[in-house]
Amino acid sequence: MKKVMILEDEVNIRSFVVINLRRAGYEPIEAATGQEALDKLRENPDIGVAILDIMLPDIDGFEVCRRIRATSKQIGIIMLTARTQEMDKVTGLMTGADDYVTKPFSPAELTARIDALFRRIGGDNTVTSEILSQGPFVMNLRNHTLEKAGVRVKLTQVEHSIMKLFMQNPGRALSREDILSAVWGRDYEGELKIVDVNIRRLRIKIEDDTANPTYITTVWGYGYKWGA
Ligand code: CA
Repeated sequence: MKKVMILEDEVNIRSFVVINLRRAGYEPIEAATGQEALDKLRENPDIGVAILDIMLPDIDGFEVCRRIRATSKQIGIIMLTARTQEMDKVTGLMTGADDYVTKPFSPAELTARIDALFRRIGGDNTVTSEILSQGPFVMNLRNHTLEKAGVRVKLTQVEHSIMKLFMQNPGRALSREDILSAVWGRDYEGELKIVDVNIRRLRIKIEDDTANPTYITTVWGYGYKWGA
């Protein structure tokens, strides 16, 4: 069974998530503190997706996310945010997360996001051997690696999927909706803003000058275009 970790210190919310994970066919792994989450992850390296609350008694969820990302690029990470938290601050801090869900959330909403992350992780495994090469960029679809001028660029799963989409569609303007449905899946019910959050992060990793992007260019009022 696919393992999903839920890090949440509020027992009621945690139990609610656990029940719904089981109902959706996932094996839930529970953690009530940041430290417990990191320990559980070491014990269960096969956890596919981690759901992280932000306000915790010990280490906050952003820091937990950062520490998980330092050791694993493969795992899917969903942040649980409160409506009262300023979204700009949240998205700015979401350095390694793939998605976020705002409390209160419906079970269907959460499991749709988890399903989408698992689909992406699983879907990429079907690729046997393929190299995409454009400008200074070389993407190896089998090894999930990206190099820029021979130097490895470390990407999250989502960033890798976006780069793949761009490199498979050079010169074509892709709408935010195109990117969302290709990367997050057609059933994804989240906000388009998540596309911009991830593009901003990708630019920091791959552009020569983030203030004047030349590889991922903005198509105003529409989306983005890959121009390497
Ligand atoms: Ca909390």
